[in-house]
Amino acid sequence: MRYTKKDILEMVEEEDVEFVRLQFTDLFGNMKNVAITASHLKKALDNKVMFDGSSAEGFVRVEESDMYLYPDYGTFATFPWRPQQGKVARLICDVYRPDGTCYEGDPRYILKKVVSEAAALGYTFNVGPECEFFLYHVDDDGMPTTITHEQAGYFDMGPLDFGENARRDMVLTLEDMGFEVESSHHENAPAQHEIDFKYDEALQTADNISTFKLVVKTIAKRHGLHATFMPKPKNGVDGSGMHINMSLSRDGRNIFQDSHDPNGLSQEAYYFLGGILKHIKGMTLILNPLVNSYKRLMPGYEAPTHIAWSGRNRTPLIRIPATRGEETRIELRSPDPACNPYLALAICLAAGLDGIKNKIVPPDAMEGNMHLLTPKELEERGIESLPKNLQEAVEEFEKDPLMKEVLGEEVCGKYSMAKKKEWEDYNATVSQWEIDSYLLRI
Ligand code: GLN
Ligand code: MG
Ligand code: MG
Ligand code: MG
Repeated sequence: MRYTKKDILEMVEEEDVEFVRLQFTDLFGNMKNVAITASHLKKALDNKVMFDGSSAEGFVRVEESDMYLYPDYGTFATFPWRPQQGKVARLICDVYRPDGTCYEGDPRYILKKVVSEAAALGYTFNVGPECEFFLYHVDDDGMPTTITHEQAGYFDMGPLDFGENARRDMVLTLEDMGFEVESSHHENAPAQHEIDFKYDEALQTADNISTFKLVVKTIAKRHGLHATFMPKPKNGVDGSGMHINMSLSRDGRNIFQDSHDPNGLSQEAYYFLGGILKHIKGMTLILNPLVNSYKRLMPGYEAPTHIAWSGRNRTPLIRIPATRGEETRIELRSPDPACNPYLALAICLAAGLDGIKNKIVPPDAMEGNMHLLTPKELEERGIESLPKNLQEAVEEFEKDPLMKEVLGEEVCGKYSMAKKKEWEDYNATVSQWEIDSYLLRI
């Protein structure tokens, strides 16, 4: 939606908005906000609201901490779950320095930069995510647990699906906020769900993913449940992924399609695919940012482990969904919903563009169930594995020059440093697995 300053001031007046939340996202994908009252909105729309950048994770040092929030007028929306008199609205903001320059560490800026590089080549990057999540019980103190009494599986319905009322409310709330929800269903694991909304241009989709998570968590809480996007909250069942469906368009036409090709893909689509496959190891730290992310990327749970692509099969990293024509797209299956959506989409686009610019030809498609191949067979076919843990992912991230090109030297350094620390903290912690395996026997 294109709103002017005047439109927003009028809407706030007409709709009885009392508070406006100015939102932005830190380096690790956490949404932050400051609320202002409607009487201060004009000041905010003139980019005069300041915050302490040194308190946001991965932003600036204390000595240079004043940062400004520049609202993106097009993101104005009200929160349907807040009171209908004295409503609460939000504006998603860009982060600027006091001298009026963009802050290069703002994830939204990083995505916008790659999007404009694509635009200079005539491309629009369209993205549709598939976010999965769990709905668990909370304990007597209101703290989340991993407890569910549900036993439903893929596409099951009520009364087996205990979450259907919550999911319905989530879908209706998303629609109230302007989302076009395409489908929602119960996923494989007990208490696991997926809601899919329509693809859009990358920046809009990244904003949508952030809003989506907020809505899902908020509505779950109203139903007395805790929604988690943790990639693998439970042993022995599927984790939660966030498949990313991608295509490029030029002059409003999907240029990934080619009806003469056996896979229905154009030359550009193959190069884009080649670029993603070339950079996937370095990108993994951004797409799978937690220690826990790597517990999902294990064989046997419909999550990818190796670097390959296929026309149909769901075990490889990249799949070409059956729809053709304007809906032609490639589906990257490794990302999980813990990723920072702005950074994730920025590096996917950059890797794909690298493929197009340098005519990177992908290896042949891999058919059949990859999980059935032995390590020897995988090696013979030259199929490499994704990074196996956070440490390997950091090493690969640091090795790939494209990451620095996209994120900038400083952001890369901060990101790596934080992730190394996370890995060290994890390694220094005695886990329940160790207690269970060793305490009695050793
Ligand atoms: N939950 C699976 C994952 O981890 C995906 C399952 C599916 O959508 N078919 O990616
Ligand atoms: Mg899906
Ligand atoms: Mg799914
Ligand atoms: Mg999918």
